[in-house]
Amino acid sequence: MQLSTGDAEAPGRGPRVLVVGGGIAGLSAAQRLYQHGAFPHLRVLEATARTGGRIRSERKFGGMVDMGAQWIHGPSQGNPVFQLAAQYGLLGDKEMSEENQQVEMGGHLGLPYVSYGSSGQSVSPELVENMASLFYTLLDQTREFLHVTDPPVPSVGEYLKQEVGRHAASWTEDQDTKKLKLAVLKSFFNLECCVSGTHTMDLVALGPFGEYTMLPGLDCTFPEGYEGLTNCIAASLPKDILVFNKPVKTIHWSGSFREETLPGETFPVLVECEDGDRLPAHHVIVTVPLGFLKERMDTFFQPPLPSEKAEAIRKMGFGTNNKIFLEFEEPFWEADCQSMQLVWEDALLLEDAAADLQDTWVRKLFGFLVLPTFGSGHVLCGFIAGLESEFMETLSDEEVLQSLTRVLRRMTGNPQLPAPRSVLRSCWHSDPYTRGSYSYVAVGSTGDDIDLLAQPLPGDNTEAQLQILFAGEATHRTFYSTTHGALLSGRREADRLISLLDAKGQPPQPRP
Ligand SMILES: Cc1cc2nc3c(=O)[nH]c(=O)nc-3n(C[C@H](O)[C@H](O)[C@H](O)COP(=O)(O)OP(=O)(O)OC[C@H]3O[C@@H](n4cnc5c(N)ncnc54)[C@H](O)[C@@H]3O)c2cc1C
Repeated sequence: MQLSTGDAEAPGRGPRVLVVGGGIAGLSAAQRLYQHGAFPHLRVLEATARTGGRIRSERKFGGMVDMGAQWIHGPSQGNPVFQLAAQYGLLGDKEMSEENQQVEMGGHLGLPYVSYGSSGQSVSPELVENMASLFYTLLDQTREFLHVTDPPVPSVGEYLKQEVGRHAASWTEDQDTKKLKLAVLKSFFNLECCVSGTHTMDLVALGPFGEYTMLPGLDCTFPEGYEGLTNCIAASLPKDILVFNKPVKTIHWSGSFREETLPGETFPVLVECEDGDRLPAHHVIVTVPLGFLKERMDTFFQPPLPSEKAEAIRKMGFGTNNKIFLEFEEPFWEADCQSMQLVWEDALLLEDAAADLQDTWVRKLFGFLVLPTFGSGHVLCGFIAGLESEFMETLSDEEVLQSLTRVLRRMTGNPQLPAPRSVLRSCWHSDPYTRGSYSYVAVGSTGDDIDLLAQPLPGDNTEAQLQILFAGEATHRTFYSTTHGALLSGRREADRLISLLDAKGQPPQPRP
């Protein structure tokens, strides 16, 4: 592959920068560097045939559905994704309204419209509301351990269960009602596993949990799909900057590499691609997901990463959250129903994944959101996290459809409930270039590990500075797991390179 772009390729006219990964982090880094103007030799190497990464919208059911990111979390002026979406005209009037931007959600989701119990009876809304209130009060408390040197228990899950136990001790109802309350709480735990992208909240570290920062604004979606945003960023770049179907195999760094067409010039980094191409560079911005790094870091970097960075990657959390869309001929829900919760009445709060997932995986599904009515169908979107979610990925569409039909017939108490006419689901864990959904701060790690991952290489003040830079959602200490965290991380690393260039006295040539 040639990286030449005519005149701009003349040696000595600015550093060669390669961005690995064309998700929102990689695209934002490239956009920033391109706009600066002093980086004529810029390429984004993307493993797949598309940009967007975990932002992926598909035309389906007569509308657009998002297989990955769905909401702008905290859509207000302090959120760069909101700002950019507004600038590109991708949001509706309601999302843009001042009123929307001022809502403080505190990370809490609204109450389900209906909670189906596994006995086929719906659970009393009052009981659900009380349990939601208890759950979110306790969850808020977990954020208060941020500056506590010795939190009472290691994980958010253990803290929540301990406190639920204390509350339950004072419940005065009959045994069945108490059991039902715990089963409803279990469903909220399942939901929180989706939010945190983890198998169990017992894996999520208590001390650092409060470091994740929430922005004001009522979470909103993109009417035409989230991918419109990454498409707009990609469209702001010249076409030849984006190189598709170019998986990177190994990044050789701390070397002295040459290219035939540029005799006399040496480069500290060489990017080796799966197709055999070898691309020398001065700087490489790595934006691949943490799941990919966990699996491949031993062969992805040559020489290997310094031990403390490798250890941080091993310790940090990265789990799976998937969506399952079901399309129905006719809705079985009320016209104003926006979400439904599934409550397994025999569920025990302390119970974790059963050994045999074949029969039990569906129990991890929190429930469904009702999507706005599409042209041709009525669509529910279910969320499922953890090992059960990864097991679901191994099943066929037909098996998933049949299992969920059985669940819905049981929960609604209607054995004749028509089966959905089609199913669509994400499989983020099986995706070789993602290997899961998003990051969290796991027990045994802290925000310092996020910062360690974000540190460029080499760490010392060698001549060839900033050979490898790290961006991506998992490198943002307070907005990890989000699109805005990913976007900011890309800009952060671009700015780091720009500062280096400024320090060397190379003038920018800003582009419009
Ligand atoms: C189901 C789900 C729901 C979500 N919901 C939300 C939400 O509602 N709101 C929100 O803010 N966030 C949400 N997120 C998280 C959000 O999607 C991510 O945080 C964000 O998109 C990550 O962007 P990124 O650029 O860091 O990584 P990615 O988007 O993963 O981009 C990395 C890119 O690197 C490429 N790549 C990997 N390996 C290689 C290689 N070897 N060579 C070349 N290229 C490579 C990949 O193909 C990919 O395109 C959700 C994610 C999922 C999975």
